[in-house]
Amino acid sequence: MLVDSFGRAHRDLRISVTDRCNFRCTYCMPEDGLVWVPRQDILSFEEIERLARVCVERFGFDSIRLTGGEPTVRAHLPVLVGKLVGLDVDLSMTTNGSALRTLAGPLRAAGLDRVNVSLDSLRPDRFAELTRRHELDTVLDGIDAALEAGFSPVKVNVVCMQGVNDDEVIDFATFGRERGVEVRFIEFMPLDADHTWTPVQVVPGERIVATIAAVYPLRALVRGSDPAEVFEYLDGGGRVGAIPSVTAPFCARCDRVRLTAEGRLRNCLFSVEETDLRSLLRDGGSDDDLAAAIAASVAAKGPGHQIGSVSFVQPPRTMSQIGG
Ligand code: SAM
Ligand code: SF4
Repeated sequence: MLVDSFGRAHRDLRISVTDRCNFRCTYCMPEDGLVWVPRQDILSFEEIERLARVCVERFGFDSIRLTGGEPTVRAHLPVLVGKLVGLDVDLSMTTNGSALRTLAGPLRAAGLDRVNVSLDSLRPDRFAELTRRHELDTVLDGIDAALEAGFSPVKVNVVCMQGVNDDEVIDFATFGRERGVEVRFIEFMPLDADHTWTPVQVVPGERIVATIAAVYPLRALVRGSDPAEVFEYLDGGGRVGAIPSVTAPFCARCDRVRLTAEGRLRNCLFSVEETDLRSLLRDGGSDDDLAAAIAASVAAKGPGHQIGSVSFVQPPRTMSQIGG
């Protein structure tokens, strides 16, 4: 087990398989100007598998999530899933959903357990403004494809922003109930490319839940190791959740580490320091060397992100370069 100096056991590995993306969400990436990591600097599937294996075998990690950039733009993604399936962990993916019509079946067949689709507006114009792409119908169809492929539950992540899409909370709740997907509202975090985030843009999770409960009565479920506060509709309409990363941070129970596409380990979403595992891998480091570097990174993890305090420093990487 990999326990940090605050007693938190780490067992959840987030792997960014690419920094590239076919969307350009305004709160995540600039429209242009991001320089992609050269292909030779991106970890190969074999390198990813080896690092994941060290985390699982040496430290008991039991959960791996594939992310990006947009993970589905990485060629042959089902092959990677096939390699990771042997590790016998909960294997999931966060995606913008645009390629699920083609990939949901092959990913499911390769052994992917769960999928989360990010979707911030159900209105075509607003969706296009937010993502800088006209692909709402493609994403909605992708959600259907994920359900048809047998993923269960399919979760839909909504970044809720004041004055941007906070008027769609009930529309999303209704959408989730009707489509049989679990909608989870995420608070907007200061990881935007333009560094224009301000606290007033954050819609508190508590307010979102109250808005929904006024229309669809809810019952809170016991919160486990998931950062989401999850609720059940009293009429049996399924589940809905909020992730209050800013107003009620999960840091005291955080069990995650993140691997960037170029093989840098981050012990926190908001880290300003990283551990270069790719060099170790490519310079012939042993599994002991890799395990020691991973353990040192986690040992150096701080108590929490400090958003809102004067000491908070926004990391230079955008969310797309970190992996959500
Ligand atoms: N491209 C994939 C997607 O969109 O799901 C995976 C990568 S994306 C960086 C992962 C998650 O981060 C998405 O759910 C996205 O909405 C979320 N995200 C991006 N920027 C964010 C921000 N500034 N605050 C909160 N969540 C953010
Ligand atoms: Fe791409 Fe996902 Fe970021 Fe949108 S949120 S720009 S889909 S990485």
